[in-house]
Amino acid sequence: MNDTQELKLTPLSAAEPTWQSELKHAYRSASQLRLALGLSAIDDQDYGFPILAPRPYVSRITKNDPTDPLLLQVISSASESEEQFGFSEDPLDERDANPRPGVVHKYRSRQLFIATGQCAINCRYCFRRHFPYSDNRVSQAQWRENIRQTALDPNVNEIILSGGDPLLLNDEVLTGLLSEVERHPSISRVRIHTRLPLVIPQRITNALIDALSNRRFKVILVWHINHPNEIDDAVELAALRLHKAGVTQLNQSVLLKSVNDAAATLAELSERLFSINILPYYLHLLDRVSGAAHFLVPDSEAKIIYRELAEHLPGFLVPKLARETSGNFSKDTFGTDNL
Ligand SMILES: *Cc1c(COP(=O)(O)O)cnc(C)c1O
Ligand code: SF4
Repeated sequence: MNDTQELKLTPLSAAEPTWQSELKHAYRSASQLRLALGLSAIDDQDYGFPILAPRPYVSRITKNDPTDPLLLQVISSASESEEQFGFSEDPLDERDANPRPGVVHKYRSRQLFIATGQCAINCRYCFRRHFPYSDNRVSQAQWRENIRQTALDPNVNEIILSGGDPLLLNDEVLTGLLSEVERHPSISRVRIHTRLPLVIPQRITNALIDALSNRRFKVILVWHINHPNEIDDAVELAALRLHKAGVTQLNQSVLLKSVNDAAATLAELSERLFSINILPYYLHLLDRVSGAAHFLVPDSEAKIIYRELAEHLPGFLVPKLARETSGNFSKDTFGTDNL
């Protein structure tokens, strides 16, 4: 590692960079990323899914280690081009569950809003890597209309902001949306599924904390943390600020081969999460999306890992083992004996 490469991992100016500038300066090619980490830049292919990895996340990757569990989540691999039986472009048939632009009505009591098609990081295992995001770009007026329509449905009491990453919306837009929800008493919870506070902890701005604080409804933020190494001091601080703002924090992980497919790693993750006020919620089995087959942990192995995990931890730190099945109103969940 020479000096110029080292520089790329540290802020360019003395002033604290904003989350937007971190996003702008994110690594956007495999060769750029490999060079910054002291690895040889042998392959610059992205297999149809662009490389995107912001610096605060990349700073937690161990240099000169091609097997780093964070690196494997963001770097493309030649395995992505292999066709695998049982893996498809839209494994959950979400294209069929898209009644109005920006809305996915998949769950009965909760309405899922696709806040934006973009993410702050591109995870190579993502089940939405082929999702037609651009069709879901909605105006603010459409947003308000979607919220009003949702509030009229007597079965729905929760709005889930998903994506893409909903925290890519700026604080002003988010404040506006939450204020619109405030007007509809039938909505008692707003849940935000995001990877942004993990990827760029500076995203937890004062304005965002204000927007989430003192709401009539409960606010839940679901982190997507897969490995204990993803949690550094900045992440811990972001979680603490959300905690103080009264936000309930949960975490969901995906069980990923060579990343977190060991009971000891998952147990460490649960302990670490709890220490920063986040409760483990789901451990997902991989969605079978084409390009991600090399992350698959077979059910037989998942079962062994999960059983061992349950033995390590008190029940409240054991995430639910879950799988999404196309057409169902909830995930399928498994105990230690029925996968
Ligand atoms: C599972 C899931 C949901 C909703 O399911 P719950 O069982 O209500 O938690 C929403 N968003 C994402 C990304 C999910 O994986
Ligand atoms: S939707 Fe979630 S898992 Fe998929 S690329 Fe975006 S942040 Fe990663």
